Amino acid sequence: MIYPGISSQVEMTDIATPYTLWRYTRNYRGAYEGWLLTPEAVSVKISNTLPGLANFYMAGQWVQTGGGIPSALSSGRTLVQNLCERDGKKFSTVTP
Ligand SMILES: Cc1cc2nc3c(=O)[nH]c(=O)nc-3n(C[C@H](O)[C@H](O)[C@H](O)COP(=O)(O)OP(=O)(O)OC[C@H]3O[C@@H](n4cnc5c(N)ncnc54)[C@H](O)[C@@H]3O)c2cc1C
Repeated sequence: MIYPGISSQVEMTDIATPYTLWRYTRNYRGAYEGWLLTPEAVSVKISNTLPGLANFYMAGQWVQTGGGIPSALSSGRTLVQNLCERDGKKFSTVTP
């Protein structure tokens, strides 16, 4: 036992399962970081557009494999970079 006596001081416990995440967010199969990162998934290119919707783009954990916040941020950055390229604008970033 690492912390003797701690159990008697716990007033409430709560456990989140994939079902909990699905119930709150409706993310596919209760995934909390997007697509499962498998060796096959690493090289998969996921579309960030939808058929019939012009000038509509998606960013986030479901359009880039890798998972979590880094993937979500990276997909947004890449999208803006691509839009700048398309529109002939310079892509520049600032460090906060
Ligand atoms: C408990 C938990 C712990 C985590 N810990 C980590 C961690 O330590 N490190 C890490 O990198 N990642 C972690 N993650 C994963 C990370 O939070 C997600 O990968 C990331 O937030 C995904 O960003 P996103 O922009 O794709 O989606 P989200 O952050 O889910 O944003 C989607 C947004 O769209 C909104 N939305 C949904 N439907 C609609 C609609 N119809 N109209 C308008 N708005 C809508 C939602 O309200 C939400 O604000 C964790 C996730 C969970 C659940």
